Amino acid sequence: MLLNKMIEAKNEIIQLKFYNSRTKQLDLFVHNPNTPINMYTCGPTVYDRVHLGNLKTFLWSDFVVQYLNTIGYKTNHIMNITDIDDKIISRLPEQTYESLIQYTSYYTEKFLDDISKLGIKNYTKKNIHKVTDNTDSMEQMVLNLIEKDFAYETSDGSVYFDSTKIIDNPFYVQNDIEGYESGRDIIRSNDIRNPRDFVLWKVKTDRTVVWGKKLTKGTFGWDTECCVLCDKLLGKVNIKMGGSDLKSKHHCNEISQAESLHPNRIYGDYWIHFGFLNFGGDKMSKSIGNVLRLDDIKYNYYLVRMYLLTKSYKNDVDYVDDEILLLKKDFINFHMLYNKLFNKFYRTHKNDKFNYSGDIIVYNNILEIISDNFNTFDALKELVKYVDKFMKVYLTEEYANKILDELNKVNNLFNILDENLLEINKETTDFINQREELRKLKQFEKTDLMREELKKTFIFEDENTGFSLIKKF
Ligand SMILES: [Zn+2]
Repeated sequence: MLLNKMIEAKNEIIQLKFYNSRTKQLDLFVHNPNTPINMYTCGPTVYDRVHLGNLKTFLWSDFVVQYLNTIGYKTNHIMNITDIDDKIISRLPEQTYESLIQYTSYYTEKFLDDISKLGIKNYTKKNIHKVTDNTDSMEQMVLNLIEKDFAYETSDGSVYFDSTKIIDNPFYVQNDIEGYESGRDIIRSNDIRNPRDFVLWKVKTDRTVVWGKKLTKGTFGWDTECCVLCDKLLGKVNIKMGGSDLKSKHHCNEISQAESLHPNRIYGDYWIHFGFLNFGGDKMSKSIGNVLRLDDIKYNYYLVRMYLLTKSYKNDVDYVDDEILLLKKDFINFHMLYNKLFNKFYRTHKNDKFNYSGDIIVYNNILEIISDNFNTFDALKELVKYVDKFMKVYLTEEYANKILDELNKVNNLFNILDENLLEINKETTDFINQREELRKLKQFEKTDLMREELKKTFIFEDENTGFSLIKKF
């Protein structure tokens, strides 16, 4: 009871607004804080490693979940793993179901590996769902759509959604026939009724890896899987997320299916579409060949994470190496201040009037800034200003702890602190303590030499107000 009151009070302060693709405007997010927000992100097709452009989408959808949790909401967030797909099946070493599972499990693990390296923490095996575990439900949804006359079978037994039944779909673009037949659906039946009809079930006579208990043996259209998982695991969907390239076809088709079967249930009150990551002037894409995978990046992954969080979630943005380098100093300073406070490397002035005693708040300001359309760019600028302010001041223990507390809260949201860089082993700690003793004895020649020694392994800074060090990277 008390907790609910606190959450309500908190939400009175944090009023989140963001661009809702469904209404095509900046909307205030309205949700009862006592019930979880049902959220869904369209996941990867596991036929290959994901690239940084894909990862930007997953990083951002994870951040949205984290932010909502931070401001007091409960979330129920799931994602699909597309492990049935023509691209996958054409790459299998053997045309068997076992081979499919082996192949896709490998790339699913790689995906989980990549997202964890990038500090994405709200995706675990618990909330990702494979299509292969849901094939009966998918077939059933196709059958339901036929039964309710929203879909029809062609002469070969494939099933299409009847696009004349589409009403009031926010992502439907009139006369957009070109390219409507997505790459995943290149073999179309001859007797489809309308060029905008999209495939729900593809009959495959030349394959051994096929599904279908009641339908003619074949495989699934891509657009059905997310609808099925949402219906089965969430019921009502509050926030739907995915890459902006999915909007006009995949998401349009999802809404058509879901809202046909449940006309009184809006499929996603809020839709968040994440912009592309361009590299070398083009959208990062396997077909163009300008992809960067996480392994190709020579920078610290938490620095890359911080960099991607300075970018707009919604617009197409460029990946530029030099921009990452510009951010490196701020990234280092954040770690330096953290270690200084955590390890008590700061100094307190004998005369209390020289010790800092002003405002230490940053966390609430950051939450407030982000509430304006996920403005992480300005929020991170606020953090950088804050870190700079406390790098060179005398601190009492009380203030140092308060500031550290703020940094921990901020990091719980951004997750940009690389703990590996903070580690200081026993040997180094002893060395530092020894140096501090010599400094008190004013043996500066010796302490200078020791500083140079430390600088071989660490980024090390020494001020009157204290010192700090982190591992070189
Ligand atoms: Zn989807």
